[in-house]
Amino acid sequence: MGTKAPFENYLEIVSESAKILDLSDTVIEKLKTPNKIHEYEIKISTGKTFNAYRVQFNNARGPYKGGIRFHPEADIEEVKALAALMAIKCAVVNIPLGGGKGGVQCNPKELTQDEIQEVSRAWIQKMEAFIGPRQDIPAPDVYTNPQIMGYMLDEYEKIKGKSLPGVITGKPLELGGSAGRGAATAQGGVYILLDYIEKIGKKPEDLTVAVQGFGNAGYHAAQILHSHGFKIIAVSDSKGGIYDKKGMNPENIFAGKKQFGSIQAALQAKLDGKICAESTCCNPEVITNAELLEIECDILIPSALDGVLTVENAENVKASIILELANGPLTPEADTIFEKNNIVVIPDVLANAGGVTVSYFELVQNIQNFYWTESEVQVRLKKIMLDAFSDILAFSEEKNITLRKAAFVLAVQRIVRAMELRGQI
Ligand code: GLU
Repeated sequence: MGTKAPFENYLEIVSESAKILDLSDTVIEKLKTPNKIHEYEIKISTGKTFNAYRVQFNNARGPYKGGIRFHPEADIEEVKALAALMAIKCAVVNIPLGGGKGGVQCNPKELTQDEIQEVSRAWIQKMEAFIGPRQDIPAPDVYTNPQIMGYMLDEYEKIKGKSLPGVITGKPLELGGSAGRGAATAQGGVYILLDYIEKIGKKPEDLTVAVQGFGNAGYHAAQILHSHGFKIIAVSDSKGGIYDKKGMNPENIFAGKKQFGSIQAALQAKLDGKICAESTCCNPEVITNAELLEIECDILIPSALDGVLTVENAENVKASIILELANGPLTPEADTIFEKNNIVVIPDVLANAGGVTVSYFELVQNIQNFYWTESEVQVRLKKIMLDAFSDILAFSEEKNITLRKAAFVLAVQRIVRAMELRGQI
């Protein structure tokens, strides 16, 4: 598609931020170089082997923090870029954590549950020396989930011989997870979106939404926005999407996907009379993921993988607001086109930072062994998200730069300050 690798995109935006901040070449070099890369091959009992990674990018502001992705495209370049984005993201919301990311290059959809458990334990066996509640704290990411965090916690505690729930976040509630962590990525983005539309004088019921991706971020975003009165007109998963301009109920779609494996399979089951009308909704038409991105709507929410909005399709996007719940869904070229076309982009490092923010709350609760209620979590999450948004909005207006550039400049400034205070630069 002629798109650049995600790490190159990171390097480009760091260079731009460095120019605005007038940083020296030595400092820029440090911001562009990961502290450590851990790379191993893991082998499970069925004989299958996989590449496993942990990239520890920057820990000037606190322990490394970031998810582990199980995906066929999770190679070292991608994991490196995602680790760097985590350092930026934690600085954007001003939580005392650095940035890291992990991955296993595998397709969990082709693995049995036993194999997934083995892969999870094998990842910990290789990385256990480098992680810990005050060192580096992994979490879920694409195609990993609370159950996988449970396997990983168990393996880690088995090796260490003690209870250390703060080694990993996004755990099941029963194993020390935080209330609100499941929907946190979406919820954080929704707090910002609601604040923004209020600022521009719009109401949820007048706005249509298209959501690409129906995993943890996408599904919860659709569901929460629906409950606020937004009209969800298009949704998709990796197999394709559905569209209904009258609006759809995401909970019904989720139930259908769960039963039949994909959104489109659920629609087909309804057409075949295998499930009753209530099990899906209305009468949607089938669309592709590519069509969803270009659909007539007010708000577009890419919530799946990176690099889906590029120079090839950006001119065709009709939404006026893009909320980036995925990591890196836009290329810098697409970003420039959206800026020219006055499409407001709420950038990933802000929009999806609710996930890591509640992960931070989970770590704090684990260390204290004292747990908060869902409403305590929501009050704190909302404050962190809205404070960050207000700083970034003010800075972007003052400098006349996009929200993404403003977020990066503020984050880079915070990371550089911490490195200076440590005497590292
Ligand atoms: N994987 C999520 C992200 O990319 C969450 C990371 C975390 O909770 O540490 O932000």
